[in-house]
Amino acid sequence: MSDAPRPRNFLAEIVEADLAAGRNGGRVVTRFPPEPNGYLHIGHSKSILLNFGLARAYGGRTHLRFDDTNPVTEDTEYVEAIQQDVRWLGGDWGGHLYFASDFFDRMYACAERLVGEGLAYVDTQSQDAIREQRGSFDRPGVNSPFRDRPAAENLDLLRRMKAGEFPDGAAVLRAKIDMSHPNVLMRDPLLYRVRHARHHRTGDAWCIYPMYDFAHPLEDACEGVTHSICTLEFESNRELYDWVLDHTGPWDPRPRQYEFARLALGYTVMSKRKLLRLVNERRVSGWDDPRMPTVAGMRRRGVTPEALRDFADLIGVAKNNSLVDIGKLEFAIRADLERRSPRAMAVVHPLAVSIENWPAGKVEELDLPWWPGEPERGGSRKVPFGGELFIERDDFALDPPKDWKRLAPGREVRLAGAYVIRCDDVVRGPGGEVRALRCTYDSASRTGEGATRRAGGTLHWVHAHLSVPAEVRMYDRLFAVEQPDAEEDFIAALNPGSLAVAKGARVEPALRDALPGSRYQFLRQG
Ligand code: ATP
Ligand code: MG
Repeated sequence: MSDAPRPRNFLAEIVEADLAAGRNGGRVVTRFPPEPNGYLHIGHSKSILLNFGLARAYGGRTHLRFDDTNPVTEDTEYVEAIQQDVRWLGGDWGGHLYFASDFFDRMYACAERLVGEGLAYVDTQSQDAIREQRGSFDRPGVNSPFRDRPAAENLDLLRRMKAGEFPDGAAVLRAKIDMSHPNVLMRDPLLYRVRHARHHRTGDAWCIYPMYDFAHPLEDACEGVTHSICTLEFESNRELYDWVLDHTGPWDPRPRQYEFARLALGYTVMSKRKLLRLVNERRVSGWDDPRMPTVAGMRRRGVTPEALRDFADLIGVAKNNSLVDIGKLEFAIRADLERRSPRAMAVVHPLAVSIENWPAGKVEELDLPWWPGEPERGGSRKVPFGGELFIERDDFALDPPKDWKRLAPGREVRLAGAYVIRCDDVVRGPGGEVRALRCTYDSASRTGEGATRRAGGTLHWVHAHLSVPAEVRMYDRLFAVEQPDAEEDFIAALNPGSLAVAKGARVEPALRDALPGSRYQFLRQG
């Protein structure tokens, strides 16, 4: 037992009941089993937090296991990226890093054992024929003509499959269960197929690869996993999971599979196949584009692991699938950043302002707090004020609407942390466009000193020459509709305005030395 917080969900209840009953010798071993065919996304983070959180709370451990049974789609780039992401989320697997391919020999031994016991056979029919004979929910299947091959013949064929005597698709190993089983997955499921493909770890050692439903329970059992947690789509696979373990054991501990609802989030897609398409078609800058729902993308966007944990707690662990409002994720991220981001000033679209009555060449160093809303946190930085400034272009209107609180000809505003200024004159270009503003300041109006001087609103600003040029990228939701998956082609649902780049932005000089990955909230820019 540990002092980590007890999760409150139905899986925690199962674990507690198992511990209370003394099952598995008091052990709790979970695993996170990604297929290394893409980067992790926010759905995976839910599964990571759940698996690692459960084990930590009950004094157990969690394994990171790469489910690398499909040699064609897998890549070591993904293996590296996934480890980085799991670690970043706080997942610590200790020495328990595994690959399904570590167990290929043991899986194959189990296959030979099933063959020897008359529980598996080699089928040399075409894939189409096998599929056709499976039947359907309301139609029983048909036995393969090879179903009753003698065990010795099956063993010989299986060994020849392994030795490379069959081309891809020419033979499969099938479990011999029941072709009229009400669960279609139990109708003599495929255990091995021939795949002459190079594997990223085992190279050319194998040309037969185990199917998911055979491999997964054996991986769990070989590692000593007690609670094998997966998403609801695998509910009907559980029967086969149990069958495989029951006929290859005894296993101690004997793993059990439990299902929970996968996370589906509005305004995004989560299937790795679709995310890969976004990357390959250059719709985004990469797997870590800040608009991507990937862990790497969110990290680049400034999201913290704590925010993702808060989000996971907020939505909980359910037994029914549902679409989660992306507003909940955005809320968790905002609440977290609010607490940890000092405030600073940046002008995204600068408009020049000259203060005509400011002493020529004078620079006043204002001392402004990093946390204006929470002065007790302390800390401040110097912000230079002078006769040449920039304000936000949108904060000025020639012909302002009625309740305009910002700058306009003849109006006054306060510059945050500084003085009240009045706009006296507008400098126009040849086409009538606003080029610059001529203003005057009230030397007795400095923020925090003496009488509070009233003015329309408060604007952010930077010094014209002492501020630092910056490129500001403003990210919005990647998709324009809540359910891109429901569209005929999800690409058509992309939000064309998901990235706006301002190349001529200016930020206050204190940010000149900000480290990559540091977080600031720009005043009035949310
Ligand atoms: P995808 O469809 O995106 O490829 P996957 O389920 O095939 O996802 P895996 O790498 O096989 O991806 O998943 C690793 C683990 O993460 C599995 O245990 C799976 O149940 C879990 N997982 C994947 N997607 C989600 C999700 N949206 N919500 C919760 N858990 C998920
Ligand atoms: Mg998968």
